[in-house]
Amino acid sequence: MIVSVIRRGGVPTRARLMACVVTIGELLPHLSGLRVERVEIRPEVLLITALTRDDVPRVCPGCGRESGWAHSRYVRRVADEAVGGRAVVIELSVRRLYCENTDCPKVTFAEQVNGLTERYQRRTPALRRLVEAVAVALAGSAGARLLLVLHQALAGTTVLNCLIRIRLPGRAVPRVVGIDAFALLKGHRYATVIVNADTGERNGGTARPALLDRDGLAA
Ligand SMILES: [Zn+2]
Repeated sequence: MIVSVIRRGGVPTRARLMACVVTIGELLPHLSGLRVERVEIRPEVLLITALTRDDVPRVCPGCGRESGWAHSRYVRRVADEAVGGRAVVIELSVRRLYCENTDCPKVTFAEQVNGLTERYQRRTPALRRLVEAVAVALAGSAGARLLLVLHQALAGTTVLNCLIRIRLPGRAVPRVVGIDAFALLKGHRYATVIVNADTGERNGGTARPALLDRDGLAA
């Protein structure tokens, strides 16, 4: 799809106005592999209707083989980062594909578009990362208020759920640890300090540390 825009030069005079033509794929690169059928500008929302191409095979998540054998189509609504002060919603027609590998446990699978859709997600990866960054910094209600400024209307509980679903980075199992127990209130309350003997990293708690159950750890 071709979009006509007016690009203004450095000085805002009429003589410096320069007309140019850009494609929707240049404005929104993650849509470049799609057939964009309609762009509707509403007061607060930019609604884009698009569909995936029939001639592009997708990788089956069950076995890793590509397939382009279409079973059916359905429409997903995916929220994207705001553009020009408007929230962006993409109504995307995607295919359900047969897996052609007879040994694969999946008979059919839903296609995903790189940079645009993720399994079980109603937001693009870029918007998901934005919401997660806000959730990490501000959590529930405060995060929802900041996201509203960014033209993303989410409830505080939704922001909290996004925070809870963020996968924590894996941590290496310490090779050697030092453990010391001490009394916070003698006879009533005790605590434990665990130190990674290689790095000096500390952790604390009052229960038996789960890391002692890991293989390869010497205490
Ligand atoms: Zn498969």
